[in-house]
Amino acid sequence: MVDERVEYILNDIKMCSPGQTEFYQAAQEVLESIKPLLECESKYFDNNILERIVVPERTVIFRVNWLNDANKVETKLGYRVQFNSAIGPYKGGLRFHPTVNLGTVKFLGFEQIFKNALTGLQIGGAKGGSNFDPKGKSDGEIMRFCQAFMSELYKHIGYNHDVPAGDIGVGAREIGYLFGQYKKITGEFNGALTGKGVEWGGSLARKEATGYGSVYFAQEHLESYGNSLEGKVCTVSGSGNVAIYTIEQLLHMGAKPVACSDSQGTIYHAAGIDIASLKAVKEINRESLKSYAKIHPDAKYIDVAHYPKGGHAIWHIPCDVAFPSATQNELTLVDAKELVKNGCILVNEGANMPTTPDAIEYLLENGVYFSPAKAANAGGVATSQLEMSQNASMSQWNFETVNIKLHQIMKDIYKRVSDTAKEYNSEGNLIVGANIAGFKKVAKSMIEQGAV
Ligand code: NDP
Repeated sequence: MVDERVEYILNDIKMCSPGQTEFYQAAQEVLESIKPLLECESKYFDNNILERIVVPERTVIFRVNWLNDANKVETKLGYRVQFNSAIGPYKGGLRFHPTVNLGTVKFLGFEQIFKNALTGLQIGGAKGGSNFDPKGKSDGEIMRFCQAFMSELYKHIGYNHDVPAGDIGVGAREIGYLFGQYKKITGEFNGALTGKGVEWGGSLARKEATGYGSVYFAQEHLESYGNSLEGKVCTVSGSGNVAIYTIEQLLHMGAKPVACSDSQGTIYHAAGIDIASLKAVKEINRESLKSYAKIHPDAKYIDVAHYPKGGHAIWHIPCDVAFPSATQNELTLVDAKELVKNGCILVNEGANMPTTPDAIEYLLENGVYFSPAKAANAGGVATSQLEMSQNASMSQWNFETVNIKLHQIMKDIYKRVSDTAKEYNSEGNLIVGANIAGFKKVAKSMIEQGAV
């Protein structure tokens, strides 16, 4: 009966959302993995929770016209998917990347519902973005695009209603331009966005939070098996916000991050990644990782176009712990086989849904510990909520205070997820633990609030 109902709902998603493959993948993972819960309790079917939870409460799609440096009008699409507000106001980032479509935003928004529930904080799930490509654009173009985007988005957000943040392609610079336009149009200086500059309402440690949190989670995971990150060789894909601060925290913990990547290639630095050079290249100068190899001639640069083997170069570098922290479906079955062959003991997801389903299956079958993104990368959104708390009380906490809270939140998430996995006879399977723990909290709230 459970199998049939889940199958029916998944088929329905395919019919109603054709071509939204990433959303389907995310929904399939959640619905399949919560079956142990559905088998014990009928209330979720009695209240039609599954049918309701896979449909966004609201989807906004809008046109964004903006003026490029050649004084030509360009047109892009803007999205905001307000997926679920059962446990709090909508919260989730904005992604600017040419691949963004409705399916991408729905997958990210759907994941966000359960991730936000796992933080133990009162925040609902949402996501947004645009198919605008910030790469190669001047500062002026980025600003005009952000202003045009916010000129529509402002109608749908608010500090008590929906609070966007950053994601791929949306960092401190973009949040600044988006906030400036929000303030100008609404006349309000409030916490309708997070990831703000620390001088104007941002939280200390928000920039570091997703990466630091991911490492705290990995440490909890290893410690529960009597192991630790100290001395471990680590590879971290990406070299954006999440990857940089993952590497920084790994260094603090005495691990040895030796590789990172960007969309053009991979750096393998056997002596250990130099965090100052990495920040200079990617955060300050916004250059390709090729420039890192110019600063460190002993580091090897592997161009994505010239990588001869299948899979992705970074996962072929031997490591103890792998941190996929770039983008979705970046770690495939070929890569998983390579990681297992090289003795990797833990894959800790920093990006959203970076590991393909067949790769996850292979890793688990081969005894690799696996930290799912919903739990492992929840530190970013949790700290965004801490930013909202600070804004609401018109206060600012120091870095250490926020970092200590973040660390405790990640410990609590690990405990919640691993205890739930145990409770449903799936000890060690944190995917089951994360999805059931997140789902139960949201579903209970939906049932209590009636058919709204
Ligand atoms: P950024 O835009 O800061 O960085 C993304 C990085 O990934 C860039 O270095 C980019 O390369 C690289 N990249 C993109 N595509 C590929 C690819 N196919 N192969 C290798 N590298 C690639 O984004 P974030 O660091 O903020 O986000 C990374 C992931 O983490 C996303 O999945 C996001 O949803 C997730 N996440 C982010 C949070 C946050 O707080 N920022 C919170 C929770 C999850 P290039 O420099 O060439 O563009």
